[in-house]
Amino acid sequence: MGDAHGTAALGEVQYAQNQPLTRERVGIQMEKLGNTPYEWESLEIQMDDSVFVPMKLLNELRRQALAALEEEILQKYRRQEPASVSLAPSSAKKSVRKNIPIYVSCEDIETALALYKREGIRGMYLPFSAMKQCLKAGTDRGLEMYLALPHIIRGELPEGYLQQAREWLNQGMTGFLVRNLEAFAILQKEGLAENCVLDHSMYTWNNEAVAFWEGQKVLRDTIPLELNEGELRHRDNSHSEMLVYGYLPLMMSAQCVRKNVYRCDHNEGRVELKDRYDKKFTAACFCDPWKMENTGDKTPCYNIIYNSIPYGLLREREQVRKLGPAALRLSFTIEDQNEAVRILDEFVNVYQNEADPPQREYTKGHFKRGAE
Ligand SMILES: [Zn+2]
Repeated sequence: MGDAHGTAALGEVQYAQNQPLTRERVGIQMEKLGNTPYEWESLEIQMDDSVFVPMKLLNELRRQALAALEEEILQKYRRQEPASVSLAPSSAKKSVRKNIPIYVSCEDIETALALYKREGIRGMYLPFSAMKQCLKAGTDRGLEMYLALPHIIRGELPEGYLQQAREWLNQGMTGFLVRNLEAFAILQKEGLAENCVLDHSMYTWNNEAVAFWEGQKVLRDTIPLELNEGELRHRDNSHSEMLVYGYLPLMMSAQCVRKNVYRCDHNEGRVELKDRYDKKFTAACFCDPWKMENTGDKTPCYNIIYNSIPYGLLREREQVRKLGPAALRLSFTIEDQNEAVRILDEFVNVYQNEADPPQREYTKGHFKRGAE
């Protein structure tokens, strides 16, 4: 591939107790380039004797190295040797990765259109209507595109939803952002578990839960917002995306604030609520949860009340990197487009261009709570 190169470092090599890994076995695993545009011209494997790593880790390593190579080719700004794989027992220390890919999620078309051309994004999570408008433009720019399913699902998917999603997968869509077990169950039944990214609402608080989801072969999960930094250091975050920006939901309810206060026309809208200290909270009314044209007023609304100040780990770059997440996410919900663009650029500058973080008012959620 010319002079592009991709590297990936992952997990830890163990000393084999009885069945060490052979060079041939590693070779077989690395040969599996499947439906990627690549083939090996030569494959050199450097490894010590008597080591062991699970096949799953080798697969992931291959996948990440190819992804890194791909990004390199797309960005065309570095030279260097061809992709190589090296295996050596590492110490207990995790390597701190600097260039962690950034994903963004948007709830509306305007924000999606304002963001997809910005530099520094690896992929986007979009609801149906926004996917319809942005898929081609996004994939043309090399972005991974994921269809975000609603936060609350009752009953089955609307007619045509899955058919359209499958068509989009054929056109280059990468997968789905899944926010509840109902959605995962439906997609798994359809054989689409391997296309799922789990949102932070899916339980993955400990390594057992993480391993369960790996067993389901999901693409990755999202680091739970309920754990603090100290607790996250004990979690395996190597298959997880970490939310570093977004208004956090304070409350989600399967009802309609607008209907309760005045009336709901099933157009999406927002209501501002004030607490007794006059603090303003935005309630986003998801009155057309599927964002399709054919669901009309048949689907029940749900509401999310967001915190008044957004969550943001803009000044915590080094702590975040030490946790070793596979990816970062900025979640845009109630911002206008200009604000979203400004926020994205700030995070890209801090996390990818090593810029000094500007002073902003962000909450740290549980991240800083009770951490050593
Ligand atoms: Zn409503």
